[in-house]
Amino acid sequence: MISVVAPIFNEQENLPELRRRLVAALETTGQPFEIVLVNDGSRDRSGEIARQFHAEDARIKLVELSRNFGHQPAVTAGVHHAHGDCVVLIDADLQDPPEVIPEMIRKWQEGFEVVLGERNSRAEHGVRGIGFRLFYPVLRALSDLPSAPDAGIFGLMDRRVVEEFNRLPERNRFIPGLRSWLGFKQASVMYDRNDRAAGKPKQTLRRLIHYAMDGIFSFSYRPLRWVTWMGIFVSTVTFGLAAFYLLQFIARGGRTYGSGFTTTILSILFLGGVQMIAIGILGEYVGRIYEEIKQRPLYVVRDKVGIDGR
Ligand code: UDP
Ligand code: MG
Repeated sequence: MISVVAPIFNEQENLPELRRRLVAALETTGQPFEIVLVNDGSRDRSGEIARQFHAEDARIKLVELSRNFGHQPAVTAGVHHAHGDCVVLIDADLQDPPEVIPEMIRKWQEGFEVVLGERNSRAEHGVRGIGFRLFYPVLRALSDLPSAPDAGIFGLMDRRVVEEFNRLPERNRFIPGLRSWLGFKQASVMYDRNDRAAGKPKQTLRRLIHYAMDGIFSFSYRPLRWVTWMGIFVSTVTFGLAAFYLLQFIARGGRTYGSGFTTTILSILFLGGVQMIAIGILGEYVGRIYEEIKQRPLYVVRDKVGIDGR
């Protein structure tokens, strides 16, 4: 059986189209399937629409979270509740075309355990567009991940990979990174990422920035190492300057400069800035340690429809 997991947050305009295209695409594979919708605390009619879907077609199921937990926790909840031999993750806004899924299934049947949807092109514009385009090269440069292809959650995981995925305990979940970290036999399917079919993006810029930072900080100590290098750099420059001033002092026959206002102010500000950046980077790690150590569940389920006998 094939499972498809889609997180939903206020997507009432997109749901009918999502259902139509998903079911059509999955039926071409000739395999049994289930669609697990995760309602991430939507404030519109998404939940009722999903219940209606289940009443009309029992292959469509629903996990309802108790509030809005965010994209990655919602996807994780869906994966935890999917029973398929492979699990496909897809955004509900139709930015990822469901028509690519049969191609992913074929790759899976050829023996690949992870199939990524990799983007040929993107349709996002403006600040978000620039951010999305810059993020993956930066991630590749910064993180210790074995690979960081330009892929979001859209992709397929074999049951074996899902079992391992479900054992990952961490709360700061950057799913593309975790999937890449897990390894297994990976293949890619190229596709063009569309603009969302209807409505506005549901992830605020703040959440996206947090998500991007998870990508970097959860997979690398490199920023901490930079802090060390920054410290070494600043100290070296300071020693150089000290030597320079000492020589000048001797050359001038023991006379000091009267004023050094600009130099003093600049070096205080510079060092202050460097220290604050360093503390900020430390803080990113400390905050993440705190999140992990609290051991709170990643999400809370309020209701299930069509899953585990409900
Ligand atoms: N989403 C969610 N919870 C949230 C925000 C978004 O479940 O708090 C869902 C949303 O309904 C969509 C997917 O996650 O199906 C991706 O969201 P969005 O399109 O806003 O993100 P972007 O494409 O900008 O990364
Ligand atoms: Mg989207």
